[in-house]
Amino acid sequence: MTEQKYDLHCHSSFSDGSLSPTDVILRAKEHGVTTLALTDHDTLTGLAEAQQAADQHALNFIPGIELSCIWNKKTFHILGLNVNANNAELLAGTHQLQKIRLERAKKIAAKLEKNKIPDAFEAVHEKAGIGMITRPHFANFLISKGHVSTMQEAFDRYLGQGKSAFVNTDWVELEDAVHWITAAGGIAVVAHPMRYKLTASWMRRFLTTFKEMGGWGIEVITARSNPDEIRRAIHFAQQYALYGSVGSDFHSPKNQYVELGRLAPLPTSIKPVWELFN
Ligand code: AMP
Ligand code: MN
Ligand code: MN
Ligand code: MN
Repeated sequence: MTEQKYDLHCHSSFSDGSLSPTDVILRAKEHGVTTLALTDHDTLTGLAEAQQAADQHALNFIPGIELSCIWNKKTFHILGLNVNANNAELLAGTHQLQKIRLERAKKIAAKLEKNKIPDAFEAVHEKAGIGMITRPHFANFLISKGHVSTMQEAFDRYLGQGKSAFVNTDWVELEDAVHWITAAGGIAVVAHPMRYKLTASWMRRFLTTFKEMGGWGIEVITARSNPDEIRRAIHFAQQYALYGSVGSDFHSPKNQYVELGRLAPLPTSIKPVWELFN
C-alpha cells in the first residue's frame, strides 16, 4: 500500500483562498496528498467542483466546511468533515452565515469609508462573486489601493480585533454549528485550538461543552503549529478523548510557510479522525 497523506483543512476562492477548487485539487495531488478535505469558510459551494476534479485525478476527496461561530462571546472555527453537502439543515445554516457575512462586509466598508477609504464594498463584493466575503478580501483591497503593503499590516491597522474597521460579529451559536454538521452526517472538529488563546480552565470548559454538543475531533497538527503547540494539542486530544485531525489551513501559494500536505504526522497515540469517515 502506498503511503497515505491526509490534509483535512484548506480553502479555495469560494472563501478566502486564491485557487479555484480544481486548482486546489491539482496542487494537493502535486504535493502528494492522497486524501483532501476542502473546508471553505461558511460555504459548501466549491465542493461539487472539487469532487469532480478529485474524481478525475484519483484523489480521495472529503467534503468539508469551516463554520464561524460564537461561544461565550468568543469566535471559534469548527470544521465539518465528511458532510453531506446537500443536507437541508446544514445548507440553511450556511445561508444564515452568508447573510451575517454580507451584513458584516457592509459594516466594515462603512468603517473604512469613515477612514476616507471609499468603495470597499463594491470592490470586495465583485471579487468574491458567489463566494464568501472575508476579511482577507478587504485586506487585498487595502493593498491594491496602496493603504497598506501587506496582509498583516491590513489586519494590524484596520481589520484586526479592536482596530478601526473591526466589526464585532454575532456568528451562529457553537451548538447550532455542531448540530448542523452532525445532522449532515459530518464530524465536528475544533479548528486550530491554540489560536483562541484560552486559559487551561476555559479550554476545559470549551472542550467539555463541545463534546456534550456532539463534537468528536480536534486539530492536532496544522501547518503553522510549533512543537509546543502540538504537544498541548495532543494533551487535549488525550484528556478529552477526542479524535485528532491534520490540516494545513492552506489559502494561497503566496504564503510559503503553509503548503498543502506539508504536515507533521499524527502521533500514533492519537486516534485519527478519518477512522470516523464511512
Ligand atoms: P473572517 O472569517 O472573514 O473574519 O476572516 C478570517 C480569515 O482571515 C482567517 O481564516 C485567516 O485566513 C485570515 N486572517 C486572520 N488574521 C489574519 C492575519 N493577521 N493575517 C492574515 N490573515 C489573517
Ligand atoms: Mn481563512
Ligand atoms: Mn480558521
Ligand atoms: Mn481555515
